[in-house]
Parts: sequence; C-alpha cells; structure tokens
Amino acid sequence: MHEYDPQKIEKRWQEEWDKSGIYQAENHSKKPKYYALIEFPYPSGDGLHVGHPRPYIGLDLIARKRRMEGFNVLYPIGWDAFGLPTENYAIKTGKNPRVVTKENTDTFRRQIQSLGVSFDWSREINTTDSKYYKWTQWIFLKFLEKGLAYKAKMAINWCPKCKIGLANEEVVDDNCERCGTPVEQKEKEQWMLAITKYADRLYDDLDTVDYPDRVKTQQKNWIGRSEGVLIRFDDIEVFTTRPDTIFGATFVVVAGKEDKFTGRYVTNPATKEKIPVWEAEYVMSDYGTGAIMAVPADDERDMEFAKKFSLPIVENYTHAGFEDYGKKITKYKLRDWVFSRQRYWGEPIPVIHCDECGIVPVLEKDLPVKLPEVEKYEPGPDGESPLANITEWVNTKCPKCGGKAKRETDVMPNWAGSSWYFLRYCDPYNDKEFVSRATLDKWMPVDWYNGGMEHTVLHLLYSRFWNKFLFDLRLVPTSEPYKKRTSHGLILAEGGEKMSKSKGNVINPDTIVERFGADTLRLYEMFMGPFEQAIAWSESSLIGPRRFLEKVWRLQSKISKGQTLSTDSQGLTLVHQTIKKVSEDVESMGFNTAVSALMIYTNTLDKQEKVSQKEFETLLLLLAPFAPHITEELWKTLGHLNSIHTEDWPTYDPEKLLKDEITLAVQIDGKFRASLLVARNQSAEEIRATALALPEVKKWLDGKEPKKIIIVPEKIISIVT
Ligand SMILES: [Zn+2]
Ligand SMILES: [Zn+2]
Repeated sequence: MHEYDPQKIEKRWQEEWDKSGIYQAENHSKKPKYYALIEFPYPSGDGLHVGHPRPYIGLDLIARKRRMEGFNVLYPIGWDAFGLPTENYAIKTGKNPRVVTKENTDTFRRQIQSLGVSFDWSREINTTDSKYYKWTQWIFLKFLEKGLAYKAKMAINWCPKCKIGLANEEVVDDNCERCGTPVEQKEKEQWMLAITKYADRLYDDLDTVDYPDRVKTQQKNWIGRSEGVLIRFDDIEVFTTRPDTIFGATFVVVAGKEDKFTGRYVTNPATKEKIPVWEAEYVMSDYGTGAIMAVPADDERDMEFAKKFSLPIVENYTHAGFEDYGKKITKYKLRDWVFSRQRYWGEPIPVIHCDECGIVPVLEKDLPVKLPEVEKYEPGPDGESPLANITEWVNTKCPKCGGKAKRETDVMPNWAGSSWYFLRYCDPYNDKEFVSRATLDKWMPVDWYNGGMEHTVLHLLYSRFWNKFLFDLRLVPTSEPYKKRTSHGLILAEGGEKMSKSKGNVINPDTIVERFGADTLRLYEMFMGPFEQAIAWSESSLIGPRRFLEKVWRLQSKISKGQTLSTDSQGLTLVHQTIKKVSEDVESMGFNTAVSALMIYTNTLDKQEKVSQKEFETLLLLLAPFAPHITEELWKTLGHLNSIHTEDWPTYDPEKLLKDEITLAVQIDGKFRASLLVARNQSAEEIRATALALPEVKKWLDGKEPKKIIIVPEKIISIVT
C-alpha cells in the first residue's frame, strides 16, 4: 500500500468520469428525474475563491446521493456572463469583453473541474452566446406582444463627470463608484417590464413552495402588499387597513419632517366632527397616500402622539356602519422592473424605431440581434449606449413598411439571462425553439435550488415572474419554477472579514487543491460549520479532514475478506446508526454533522484489528458524495469494476438501530440493589430467574420469599418482600 497522494488520483478520476459520462443527465430514461440547481456564476477576472464552491459542493452531495438512490439527475452549470465588471474592465483596458469573458470562463471551468463536482458539463450554457441570447430576445418579444414590456420616463443615477448612467450597485454613499462625484438623478426613457401585474401571484404562490421562511418573508416584504381602504377627509385622502376604527379617528396626520399642527381642520366623514390636521415624522410619505387617520384608542403610536399634544382620545366608539366610507384598494411596494441599460455588454433589445410605424419588433426569423463589435465601450456623452455610435448597425429597415428605421440601442439589464437559464439547461442546443416542451415536461420544476440570500428579492423574484409569464403562454409546465430553495452562508477570510481582492485576503482554491487535494477541500468546506451560516476560513483546520482521509486510506490494509460484520452487537448497531445519521443529515444539509458521524465510524473501524470488507465498503459508499476521488480509488482497488458513484446508497435496518442488550435496574422494596444485563428479547420468566440468582439479590433477600415481582419492560425489576 502506498501513501495517500491525492495528486496521483484526482486528475485521473476526473478524466475517467468525463470520458464515461456518468454525470450526464439522460433525456430518455426510465428512472425518476431529479433536478438539482445552483446559481450559475458570474465569471469575473479574479477567478474562483474558496467561498464560491461551498454551494456547488453542498448540492453536489445531494446530486450524488440521488444518483446512488436510482434517480436520473440533472445537475448543470453555465455562465451568467453579461454585465458590469467585465464591461468596466473592457473600458479600462480596451480589451474586447467577449475575449475577456472567454478567458474568465476558461479559468472558472478549470477551477471547478479540479474540485470533482459532478456537473453535467455537456449542458454548459453561456448567456453571452448569441445562440443563447437569441431566446432571451425572443422572450422579450413575447413580453412586448402581451403588452408587458413598455417604455417610460424614469429617473436614473447619473454621474455628471463620467457622463454615464450608473447601476444602483455603482452608487456608493450617493457618489459615483468610479470617480467619487455626487450622483444626480436624470430622466431617461427606459424599457420597463410589468412585474407588478404578477404581484398577487408572486405573493400568494409562495404558499405552494418549500422555501425557508426568511426567504418567503423577504419576498413578501419586497412585494409589500397591504389591503386597505382609501377614505376622504375632505381633500385629504388617507389609507388605512382598519376602516372599522373610523368612528374613533380624532385627528389626521400627514407625513412631515417635524411634528406640528398645520392649523387646518377636516371633517371625519363618519362622525361629521371637525378634527385637526397634524404633520408628523412617524407617518411615512411612501406608505399608502402619505396620510393617515389617527385612532389613539386603537394604535399605540397615535396614542403616544395624542398624549404628547393633548389631542382628543375616544375610547368607546362603534365599529358598525364603517363600510359606508371609502373604497377598498390593495397597495404594493413593488414597482415595475427597469429593463434597459445604456451600455454595451448586454443583450440588444430587439426592436426597431420607425418614424411611420413607431416601435416595431424585430421579426423572429431575424433573431438573434447580435451585439456588434465596437471600438470603445464607454457610453456616449449624453449617456446613450455605445451602440448608438455604430451607424451601420443602428440604421436598418423597418420590418413593417420597409422604410428607413433605427435599431434600439439600449441593452438588457444584468438579470435578463438568469431569468430563464434553468429552462435552457433542459434543452441547451435547441435552435428551433427556446426549449422543447417535451424536455420541460420531463425536467421541470427544479427540485432543489440553492443560492445566496443576496439574490432573494431580485433574481429569485424575477425568474419566478418570467416562469409564470411563460406558464401563461403554455410554454412551461408549472407555474412555479423551483420546488425547494435553500441558502448557504458565506465563507469569510481568516479573521472574519469578507474576502475581497482589494483587501488582499482572497484564498484561491487552486493552492488548497495543490497542497491538500480536492477531497480534503470538499470535506473541509462541508465540515467547517453549519451550511446556512457564514464562517471564517481557517487554513490550520484543513489538516483535520486531511488526516481523516489518510485514516480511511490506511484502513484498506486491515481488510479481511473472511471477517463478517463486527461480531459484537455494538459494532453492528453503529453501522446502521451511521447510515441513518448520514442519510438524514445530508437531506437537511447538516453536512458537518454527517462528516462527524463518518469520523466516529472510521475511528471505530480503526480500533479494530481487522475490518470486514462489507463494513469498509459501507464507509466508502457513505463517504463517496463528500470525497468522490479517494472513495472511487479505494472502491476500484477492492476489485469492483463499476464506479462507486453508480452504486446503490446504503440502507439501514431500523431494528438494528437499537442495541441488542439492555440494562435493567433491580430494586428490592423500592431500593436500587443491582443492575442486570439482559438480551432485548429475553422472556419475563428468564429475567425473573436471572435476577433472583444474582448474588446481591440473594444477599438482600436473605432467604425471604419475594411476595411480588414487577417488571417494567426495558427499565426496572421491582422485588417486593
Ligand atoms: Zn463618475
Ligand atoms: Zn415602418
């Protein structure tokens, strides 16, 4: 037996798996389907840091376990590659963003592949590939056709020095991120998507999916639905969710910067009384109409305000007859989605402006509208897209009247390509339709989607919206795209700060793989702490998982073919307990406790002189999703021809979970006198006889005949004299 050397085995197995295609999902298979999804990465120039793979490895455990459980698993990967960082890099260096993207994705791919994640690489997609964004444009045209894409004047963030519109993430403390100039608001015509039309369904359908409560709450708050009534107090309209309290309304408050009386009075339409109008800080201008009716008897803040300014308080009032006042409305915080950017690196919006015909969609046969090559990637001096300068691209013919017309020069926002990528994975090479309905029927919905909490309200909501829209067009089979959603915690730098290039604290997984091996890195990331929680990286802690794998490696020298399962019942119980624990913990993402259980089991085997092949194989099978390379190597060394990753997941026998022997307490006249070890299935008669034969019992009975013997099963034998 040679020493454990991951450098010798990991690359070899990665190539082998790639060749045999064992991680490829099959479109035609009799097995039940399982679709596991992670948020596809943005391939930045910095490459991967050790935080990126945490969710990939987490869901890799699920994907691998499902395959071993007999599922046909789809676990795909691709690149969300349009957007700001690459574009800003292109502006700075003059490099073509297409070339930059290619370099970055090559690095990301190599790095992810070095970790042995079981992605189906045959379905890799890239949102900047015109074969992909052709269909992003096609979906946009569907929105346009249904009246859900429209143009409107919107205020955008504008840097007067750089003369460009800024995305919200480029505005830092109200200043331009690049030059520090205070950002102004500038009105611009923008494309909008009418997500508010779906507000109710996006809200209500959260009850039908398995998302963490904090995710549901964040989405609900973002949509911000409140049902209430608008009531007029003369010329002031108030919004209230409690119209039944109108008879107790003794003053009106409008949003203001300080608390003061306006000097005005209005009529309460229910009581017909003149009541004062106040201004106060506690009323928000963006809540409802920015004005409320104050009911001190029913609202704490109104009560506090009334007491402070000695305003009338009516304690007992009628709740009857309130329905006569005001009209019911539902208010939302959600606004329509600004769907255009005056930038270069995005999907061109596929419409044409004609003086005669107005806005005309590009014909489907003319898609994709390809992004033209440009010399410079900055926006123009008036904030127009760099595409506006490419006259030969901009000038075109109107598809309707054939006259001279101009192309739209805005591109889509960062979130466009990721709003439907999970559908494209089902059928990534289709060039006739966006995805075939048959493959969607096969794979959708996504069974388990893991992603960052930071994407809860934008990406997650946007993609639910697109899916619902496509569902209404009968293009996808389910109204909700994701059955289950989970989130991982960030990996922080040593010391607990966020990893970032500017702080110089980024850890590259390449160096860890080189020093410790991919299996150690994977095991460490799963073992370092609860998956949902943020946790700091600790280089010195990598040695624990590494030593554990070395111990597993050395166990092969203890294997005895003839040896049966640990002959003592303790060992047998532990095998079944470990299978149960690891199986259940993986399902609940308790990956760290699953690894602990594997360590306990390994230590037990290590203490034995000999280890049966069966016991060792059970360990390898349970460990395979965590450490796919070492387990494959050991599996093959044992003489197996098939990959361990296509073997069956071990099952446990619930009866064997219980220990076979139990200890009973022996009491004489209510006092504890001895303990007795019996077999679980021993009869009452046998137990009684063994108990009476105990030397301690004989001593305390001192020849007396017991009057009564009571046995409380699995607990006590009580002897009464
Ligand atoms: Zn600036
Ligand atoms: Zn025309």
